[in-house]
Amino acid sequence: MVDKEYYKTLGIDRNASKSEIKKAYRRLAKKYHPDMNKEDTKAAEEKFKDVSEAYEVLIDDDKRSKYDYFGDAGVRDIFGAGGFNWSDFTRYGDIEDIFGNLFTRGFGFGEESVLDMFFGRRRKPWESLQGRDLRFDLEIDLEDAASGVKKRIDVPHTVVCSDCHGSGAEKGTAPKTCDMCKGSGQVKNVQRRGYSQFISITTCARCKGTGKIIEKKCTKCYGRGVIQKTSRMDIEIPAGAFSGLRLRLEGKGEAGIRGGPSGDLFIVIHVAPHKIFEREGNNILLEVPINFIQAALGAEIEVPTLKGKVKMKIPSGTQSDSIFRLRGKGIKDIRGYGRGDELVRVKVVTPKNLSKEQKRLLQEFGRSSRKR
Ligand SMILES: [Zn+2]
Ligand SMILES: [Zn+2]
Repeated sequence: MVDKEYYKTLGIDRNASKSEIKKAYRRLAKKYHPDMNKEDTKAAEEKFKDVSEAYEVLIDDDKRSKYDYFGDAGVRDIFGAGGFNWSDFTRYGDIEDIFGNLFTRGFGFGEESVLDMFFGRRRKPWESLQGRDLRFDLEIDLEDAASGVKKRIDVPHTVVCSDCHGSGAEKGTAPKTCDMCKGSGQVKNVQRRGYSQFISITTCARCKGTGKIIEKKCTKCYGRGVIQKTSRMDIEIPAGAFSGLRLRLEGKGEAGIRGGPSGDLFIVIHVAPHKIFEREGNNILLEVPINFIQAALGAEIEVPTLKGKVKMKIPSGTQSDSIFRLRGKGIKDIRGYGRGDELVRVKVVTPKNLSKEQKRLLQEFGRSSRKR
C-alpha cells in the first residue's frame, strides 16, 4: 500500500516546524480553495481536501508521531476505516485558527480578507463598478456598406445623475458609513458549542452589502445614481462593412456605478439583402437575361451597378451562364485593399409565343445551319 505522502502534499520536509506547516498550508489552502478555482473546481476541491488532511495530521503532535511511525497504517488508526472525514475538519475550528488573525485585520472597509476568499469571493462594499456594455443592432443597405455611410442613431442607456454625481444621495448630502456592519457590508456571527465553533457570514441587512446608508435619496435618480436617457449619436460606418461587424464606441454604454467607468457601446451591423445583387466577400453578383440573338450576334447592354447603370459588351457566340467581370464595381475593402468587382452572369432566354413569320424565319435559319 502506498503511503499517503503528507509531507510531499504540503511541500515540506520531514522535520518541518509547526510554523512551517502552517505557512505551507495557508499558501496551499488559498491556492486550491474551490472558490478560487472557477475553472476546474472538482480537481481543486480534491487537492484542497488532500492538503487539509495532511495539515490536520501534521499539525497535531500525537497524530504526526503516529503517522511518522506507522505510515499509512497510522492514518487508518487516526481517522478510522473511513479515512479522513472532511465534514469533521470544517467544524474543528482549524479554519479560524489558520485565518483568525487575518480575519480581524482584513475585515475592514474596502479590504478583502482571507476569510472572504475562504468563504467565497464577495463584492467589496461601496466598490465602483464599470457600467455594462450595450449592443445596438443597425441595418444598412448594400450601397451604404459598399461605400461607407454616416448614420445618426438614438441609443437608450443610463448616464450618471447630474444632481448627485452618482452617489444617490440628495444634493448637499453624502452617503454615511453603515453602523450595523461598520462599512464592511457583511455581518459575522460566531457561535461556540463546546470545542466546536460555527462561523457564518451574511450580507448586512441594513445596507444590503454596500457598507453605506443613504439617508436622503437624490430626488432626480431616486438614489440609483444613474438616470435613463436617450442619447443621439453620429456614427461613421466604414466602407466594406459586413453583417456581424461590431463597431465599438468606448464609454457610450451604461453609466458606471459609484464613480466607475462607463461600459462600451457595440454597434452590430446588419446588411439588408439587396433586390438584385448578391454579395460574396467584396464582390457582388448579378444575373442578367439576354435574348438568343444578342447571345449569337453580340451586343452592348446596360447593366445596373451599385452606382448607376454602365454599358457592357457581350461578344458574339456568348453561351448562357457566361460570367463577365466589371472591375472595381464591387465593394470597397474594409482594410483599404482596393475594391471588389461586379460579376455579371448572363442567362440566354429562349423566345416564346413566336409569330408565324418568326417561326418561318427560324425554320429557314435551321435549314441553313444544317447545310453548313
Ligand atoms: Zn441622483
Ligand atoms: Zn451594513
